[in-house]
Amino acid sequence: MGSESGNAYHIAQQQFDLAAEWLQLPEAQRAVLREPQRELTVRFPVKLDHGGVRLFTGYRVQHSLARGPAKGGIRYHPAVDLDEVRALAMWMTWKCALMNLPYGGAKGGVVVDPAQLSSDELERLTRRFTSEVSLLIGPERDIPAPDVNTSAQTMAWMMDTISMQRGHTVNAIVTGKPVAVGGSLGRSDATGRGVWLMAREWARRTGRALGECRVAVQGFGNVGGGAARLLAASGCRMVGIADVSGGYRCRTGLDIATMQAYAASAPHRTLAGYIQPDIERCSAAEILETPCDILIPAALEHQLTDANADRISAAVIIEGANGPTTPEADRALAARGVTVIPDILANAGGVIVSYFEWVQGLQSFFWSEAEVNQRLEQIMVAAGETVYNLAIARGITWRLAAYLIAVRRVADALAIRGIYP
Ligand code: GLU
Repeated sequence: MGSESGNAYHIAQQQFDLAAEWLQLPEAQRAVLREPQRELTVRFPVKLDHGGVRLFTGYRVQHSLARGPAKGGIRYHPAVDLDEVRALAMWMTWKCALMNLPYGGAKGGVVVDPAQLSSDELERLTRRFTSEVSLLIGPERDIPAPDVNTSAQTMAWMMDTISMQRGHTVNAIVTGKPVAVGGSLGRSDATGRGVWLMAREWARRTGRALGECRVAVQGFGNVGGGAARLLAASGCRMVGIADVSGGYRCRTGLDIATMQAYAASAPHRTLAGYIQPDIERCSAAEILETPCDILIPAALEHQLTDANADRISAAVIIEGANGPTTPEADRALAARGVTVIPDILANAGGVIVSYFEWVQGLQSFFWSEAEVNQRLEQIMVAAGETVYNLAIARGITWRLAAYLIAVRRVADALAIRGIYP
């Protein structure tokens, strides 16, 4: 996130520029889409448990509203900055367009290490941040969701805060809520399920049995943990897992269910101290170099770079995280024949089921989990097929193919709407 060469916003702009060039977009459209439409920075005080007050900084960026209300998560992380949020907002625009959801793209973040705060402090921070960004958000305007270090509970606090301000319950203001307050069945598993679907489709297309693949996953939260659980249930050999405490490798296979139970049980919160026969420790960065067939970066941006791309042994990289691969690494991996299934396709399961949750909330009519999963599968498999076919037909990477489809759709919406006034 921090260093200049790793600036996520510059990377997002480079990815856009390449697609704009291929599409021969008119200059005015390029200028509009290269930068966010709206950016809000907020600074706000939060009362601490033991007296005193701390000041926090947060952001909400709406990259584009051309195709509908803005959509995207809120992350809590000490390294959040405006450029990172801008990049993440832009990626949401393309992700929603690629999935043909009637949304633009947004993202938010607060500069905070949530592990340093109590649950009461996090609740006060969330409620105050929500109040500060309430001038931008709303069911028809901008709908937040969970992201790194935020959860269904965070969304419940956001929903309750806006509902208290307005004097009535406003379910559709956020997605990824607990089911008890208008969330959708299947939402918490949706991103991991989408990653698993992409792994299954890749295996089918390349004539492999998914159950014979070796898998390494960087990140063990909602996305990495969810994908790992489904892949393990499909018979994959899970040869590497990393979380904030570092990497855990085992040639004969890690026991994902036990690891998840360990990390979820107090006082662990992470995999630190986890032991299993034949386990080897490494860093979270080294997990990417684990000998495997399927590699799933599901943590943060800027993990696969020109510094390690040549040491990646996987046949396919499925981006559970947003922005884990730099353009230089993309080129190096493509030259070596490694397929990269890009973030805006691979991790779209979450926002797809967010859309289902928003639709269900607006109609106050709720679907079964089987229906949610079946519709999710339909959208992701069809989008994967379209991207794959274009990549093959034009001899380009999956990322460029996905961008050509997504950017075209947003540019078309801009052109058809015209310029006000
Ligand atoms: N934070 C997730 C993402 O990056 C989900 C966004 C949403 O559901 O709005 O796609």
